[in-house]
Amino acid sequence: MTRPSAALIDLRALRHNARVMRSMHGGRQIAVLKSNAYGHGAVACARALGGTSDGFGVAFLEEARQLRAAGIEGPLLVLEGAFDARELVEAVAGGIALVVHHEDQLRMIERTPLPRVPASFWLKIDSGMHRAGFAPDAAAAAYRRLQATGQAHSITLMTHFARADEPDCPATREQLAVFEAATQGLTGPRSLCNSAGILAWPAARRDWGRPGIALYGADPLGSSASPLAPVMTLRSHVFSQRLLQPGEALGYGGAFRATEPTRVGLVALGYADGYPRAAATGTPVAVDGQRTRLIGRVSMDMLTVDLTPLPHAGIGSPVELWGPTIPVNEVASRAGTIAYELLCNVKRVPLQYL
Ligand code: PLP
Repeated sequence: MTRPSAALIDLRALRHNARVMRSMHGGRQIAVLKSNAYGHGAVACARALGGTSDGFGVAFLEEARQLRAAGIEGPLLVLEGAFDARELVEAVAGGIALVVHHEDQLRMIERTPLPRVPASFWLKIDSGMHRAGFAPDAAAAAYRRLQATGQAHSITLMTHFARADEPDCPATREQLAVFEAATQGLTGPRSLCNSAGILAWPAARRDWGRPGIALYGADPLGSSASPLAPVMTLRSHVFSQRLLQPGEALGYGGAFRATEPTRVGLVALGYADGYPRAAATGTPVAVDGQRTRLIGRVSMDMLTVDLTPLPHAGIGSPVELWGPTIPVNEVASRAGTIAYELLCNVKRVPLQYL
């Protein structure tokens, strides 16, 4: 029997979410496809997003190469800004825009003989996240040096928010003000918002939105009235069952001990597939479309669920680990992490496109 586990990817939901985000933000949209489109398959997602977005964002040049090799045309942006001189030449030649966030990169652009084709750079300004970007008082000089290379056909001014998922957070208001002041008098498009920025900070919407997680249907604000549709369903089925007697312990560490007769379903999916080992007894799962709970410790290749409340469930019953019935955000918070990490970690299971 083939393994019943898979991640179903609903490309219609992906397109729906992309349209929701673009119409909310206005202007143009970079759909962020880094880390294999947050585990959803970058090439398939890029193809599906045609017509809903104006370009794609990736973390590294390697990811941009994969998209180009698969025939994805149009604007690509390398967001994380780690590149050497050889990669700089390759990116400019291939029409791939780069984020420039550090003095060393500016110097590299000034000194490297580049192909004589129009190049796009995104100049990152550190408005308060203090991770990457030019200091606000260095932004104008960096912009002018980039312009003076004669190489930059377009310079987009960007920043990234640290706490956009906290509505009304003064730190985000402060970042917005710092960015405005730092870019005053500089021409060129602006881009401030990731998903949470688009959803929670209308005042920060500018020329380009850069949604990632929202495309995949995990609302970063955790809103129960989200306009987003879940894209991935991580699913398997029950492949064995047994009755646990009161007092008997289940699985590694005996982490669950039955206090009453408990019908246990065994599911062929574990932490090696990307399901979080930190998810403990009580984490919701759906069996036959109905909510029940994970019990015991998650193993490498399997996990155990409580079938006691579901008299009709048994071997062959479909199991949803997350998806339309079990929000990935809920599993993430039970596991002490965020949906991003769970989605990016999905591996070994085949991706099946709907
Ligand atoms: N913009 C930049 C610069 C990023 O690094 C990312 C991802 O981390 C995004 C946008 C997308 O963020 P999110 O997935 O929170 O929408």
